Formats: sequence, C-alpha cells, structure tokens
Amino acid sequence: MTVTIEHRRSAELEELIDQDAAAFRILTGDRPTGQLHLGHYFGTLRNRVRLQDLGAEVFVLIADFQVLTDRDTAERLEEYVTGMLLDYLAIGLDPARTMIFAHSAVPALNQLLLPFLSLVSVPELNRNPTVKDEIAHSRQASVSGLMLTYPVHQAADILFCKANLVPVGQDQLPHLEIARLIARRFNERYGRPVFPVPDALLSAAPLLLGTDGTKMSKSRGNTIPLSATADETARLIRGAKTDSERSISYDPERRPAVSSLVLLAALCLGRDPRDVADGLGDGGAAALKSVVTTAVNDLLAPVRARRAEYARDLGYVRQVLRDGNERANEIAAATLAEVQSALGMRY
Ligand code: ATP
Ligand code: MG
Repeated sequence: MTVTIEHRRSAELEELIDQDAAAFRILTGDRPTGQLHLGHYFGTLRNRVRLQDLGAEVFVLIADFQVLTDRDTAERLEEYVTGMLLDYLAIGLDPARTMIFAHSAVPALNQLLLPFLSLVSVPELNRNPTVKDEIAHSRQASVSGLMLTYPVHQAADILFCKANLVPVGQDQLPHLEIARLIARRFNERYGRPVFPVPDALLSAAPLLLGTDGTKMSKSRGNTIPLSATADETARLIRGAKTDSERSISYDPERRPAVSSLVLLAALCLGRDPRDVADGLGDGGAAALKSVVTTAVNDLLAPVRARRAEYARDLGYVRQVLRDGNERANEIAAATLAEVQSALGMRY
C-alpha cells in the first residue's frame, strides 16, 4: 500500500475514533535501543496518549527481543527500559488505562511466531523496504535470521492481544502489511476468525528527520531525546544540518533538512509549517534554530519535570512493568490456547 492510501485510511480511522474510541484496541511498541526522541513523540507517542484519553484500550510493548535484530548483544538494556518507562509516564500514559509490558516477559506471545512464520513466504520477507533500509544501516557483517523475520514477530505482538489499530511511523507500514496478511491467512487457513485485521494509524509526522537530515533514529546518533536537558537540546539543534539558502521555506522535497526543522517547530507550536517558515522569512538558519529550540524546550519542560518526579520513585516505575507483564501473560495464554486449538494441537 502506498503512503497516500495509508494517509487516507488514517483519516477515515480518525472519524471512527471520534465516533467510538472504545471500539479500538491499540498496540504499539518501541525497541529499548536508546532514548526515546522527538520522532517517537510526534510519530506515535502523542497519538498513544490521545487515544488512551479518548477511551481506547492501549497496550505498549517494550520490544526487548527486537534489539537483537541489528546488533549482536543488547547493551544497557536496563537503563534504556527504565528510561522508556519514565518517558511513557512523563508524557501521560496512565498505567491504570494503558498496559505496558516487555517482550521477554511474555513467552506465550513469542510462541505465536512459529505458526505465523509458516504463513509468509521468503520472497515476501525479502522485499520489505524497511528491513532493507535497516540492513543497510546495520552494524552487523551479515544479515541475521531475526532481522529478516522480525516483522513476523511483530505480527505476533499485535495479534496476541487482538489489536485492531497500530499508531506508527511510516517505517512500520510494510510490517503492518505483513501482520494484516498473517491475520487474514491464519483465519482462512484454519477456518475461524481468530484474529482481527489490524489497521495502521499514521500521525501528522510519520517521518521526522534527525539532526543529520535522515530519519531520526535511536541507532543513528541523530536524535533529540525527550530526556535531554534544555541546554543539551539547544546544543543538538545548533548542530543540526541545514542548507546555505538564507530564506526559510517549507519544502520537504527540495529542502528536507530545513523543512524538518520548520516542521518540528510547527508541531511543537501547533501551527502550520508554512506559516512558521513565512514568519522566519530571510532570518536564516540561526533564527530558525532559535525558534525550534524555544519551541521544543517549552513543549518538553513539563514532561521533564514529571519525568524527574517519577525518577525519584523507581520502585513504582518497575511495578508498572511487572503489572503490565502479568496482564499480558494472561492475554497471551488465552490467545495461544485458541491458536493451538485451531491448529489441532490440544492434547
Ligand atoms: P532504532 O534506530 O533502534 O530502530 P527508532 O528510533 O527507529 O530506533 P523504534 O523503536 O524502531 O525507534 O520505533 C518505535 C516507533 O516510533 C515506531 O512506531 C516508529 O514508526 C516510530 N518512529 C521512530 N522514529 C520515527 C521518526 N523519525 N518519525 C516518526 N516516527 C518514528
Ligand atoms: Mg526503528
């Protein structure tokens, strides 16, 4: 599916959400490969909080096994997982309404991988454009089996809890296609409607660029972390790539780096990026960066304050994850039982 079709579908979904958010069960997740950043915030995190507040059921997955797709070992896991939990709580995810859990703590979920792998072909896995891009950026000399198959693992994440909506950035669209394929094929092959066919929900910023002008990614050293201080944020934005044209415009095709900064300011301020660019006129990169810095720091100031409060009570933060893991295990066991029964594996 092209991005345009997905955008149109997202607009339709927004109308359905407006009518009855409680009809949606939502799953999204992040890899604990580093600190959550503004790409996450505008690409998906903000949507999660909004949907939670509208009354949808929200599940957030810390995808720790997926760390191993493009690196040999998972480093600083505990630090990153704690950081992510703090970010989730600080941006407004409420554990009473949103279940937060970790991949490795839910074995039944991972068991879905085997029957799901049997439902996709090797060429289907090979032509996934996001996986191709990640292989190009990988630090590994050769492509692991997990790299090629993690979108199937992700289908298990989505389908174990029977989620029907997945708020994601653009890079996730090919993976969502695979999850949809698996849900449909499973239901057809085993003759019962075990899984809903999930939809992707794109935000207004499905692909925020980083300070080097490519996709903002934890693994690429080009991010503005949510947990950065105001000074660190200013320094990161000062170092961001721009171009030599003095006049500021919003033209993502021709001027991706400048336009991404304009978009960032616009997202923080809740304004149209073209208006932000017009307001800057011939101010050049320095004026643009100063506006972006103020906008980002104003947006993040209350988030940072809440984050610091939660950081003083790490016992609570860890309990949030333990509670989420417990509930996720119950749900996964029920789904696995249904799957085993469909496969005729009940002895
Ligand atoms: P890594 O480099 O380790 O893959 P990442 O920064 O790509 O990290 P993920 O954990 O892979 O982050 O992605 C989590 C979610 O955030 C996904 O839904 C993804 O689409 C979204 N996301 C990540 N980066 C961006 C971005 N730059 N713009 C918009 N959404 C993004
Ligand atoms: Mg990624």
